[in-house]
Amino acid sequence: MLLEFIWDLEFLLLEFKSITLHLKKKIMDIQTNFSLKNYNTFGIEAKAKQFISINSIAELKEIVTKNQDIFILGGGSNMLLTQDIQKLVVHIHLKGREIIEENEDFAIVKAQAGENWHEFVLWCIQQNFGGIENLSLIPGNVGTTPIQNIGAYGVEIKDTMFSCEALNMKTLEIETFTNAQCKFEYRESIFKHELKNQYIITSVCFKLTKKNHKVSTTYGAIETELKHQNIYNPTLKDISNAVIAIRQSKLPDPKELGNSGSFFKNPIISKEVYEKTKALHPKMPHYVVSETEVKVPAGWLIEQAGFKGKRFGDAGVHKNQALVLVNYGTATGSEILNLSKTIQQTILEKFGIAIEAEVNVV
Ligand SMILES: Cc1cc2nc3c(=O)[nH]c(=O)nc-3n(C[C@H](O)[C@H](O)[C@H](O)COP(=O)(O)OP(=O)(O)OC[C@H]3O[C@@H](n4cnc5c(N)ncnc54)[C@H](O)[C@@H]3O)c2cc1C
Repeated sequence: MLLEFIWDLEFLLLEFKSITLHLKKKIMDIQTNFSLKNYNTFGIEAKAKQFISINSIAELKEIVTKNQDIFILGGGSNMLLTQDIQKLVVHIHLKGREIIEENEDFAIVKAQAGENWHEFVLWCIQQNFGGIENLSLIPGNVGTTPIQNIGAYGVEIKDTMFSCEALNMKTLEIETFTNAQCKFEYRESIFKHELKNQYIITSVCFKLTKKNHKVSTTYGAIETELKHQNIYNPTLKDISNAVIAIRQSKLPDPKELGNSGSFFKNPIISKEVYEKTKALHPKMPHYVVSETEVKVPAGWLIEQAGFKGKRFGDAGVHKNQALVLVNYGTATGSEILNLSKTIQQTILEKFGIAIEAEVNVV
């Protein structure tokens, strides 16, 4: 009898210990006054009032149920923090990737939102799955790729994205969006407009080729880079390596110099406006987008306006790539934002063209 009582007591004690540990962990998980310096590639010193890293859908649902006013953070590579975030910052750390369907020709691969994009690209190349190799070395998370339809070297995520899953923050249901439902455009999707701040993307599926890969080498300097390496029949890995080499030679590494990639989108203007501007600036380059529209490289406009390589305190325009604004060390988000506004105003006055920020200003 006494022995049973002692056992029960011990069992209760153990239960109590595990509950306190669990509670302690829960309380410890949410950190307060948390520095985001290492969580944004601009390296801006800003604080989150509260911060939590999420590892499962269950945790995500629990957090969303309890806190409607949250800020979602992926890899922090497409944001400029101009102030502290007076909300709970939810860092998406959902991990995992799997082949969910395949036949002789295609594989459908699913990656959780918190997977690192570049690591995912390399993993796909290792399996000989083609379609995203031109998007090598783009920083950030898989889950963020549909938001601005990431693109580089003639390829965009919309070319291979099969579907994505997202948590509806009101109903707490996971919903599936097809490629068409995402309403992709150049650096745009439904998640930046009608559905802004209503969904948290939890996973993304890509339909990738297993053979007869449609390699795209004509854009930018890929072909030149491959020739330089004496490669005339490139594999997926060769293309990825070429893209990596070009990017490393042109773009600053955020670990060494804070930046968020292209700060501005390339403006799309009507052919009419283009013709008028071209008459005044005959060397202005352009790419045809449609019968009525052309795209003008924002980097060229910024360079012509004399900003390339300019530095204003610790905020500046990169010396090799005028589209990239940089933080030389201690620039504040507001300083970089002010520089971006000066650039926009100057371009508007000089060329009559409005350039929009690609980076999310917070
Ligand atoms: C050096 C460098 C080079 C780059 N090159 C390119 C390039 O070639 N092409 C290109 O397209 N981009 C490029 N970028 C921009 C950036 O890498 C991409 O936009 C990337 O997809 C951002 O991912 P992230 O996880 O870092 O997003 P974050 O910066 O963390 O978030 C961006 C926005 O999405 C929201 N968000 C984040 N995760 C989720 C989610 N799971 N659900 C809902 N909302 C979410 C955030 O609240 C925020 O508003 C570059 C950036 C850098 C620093």
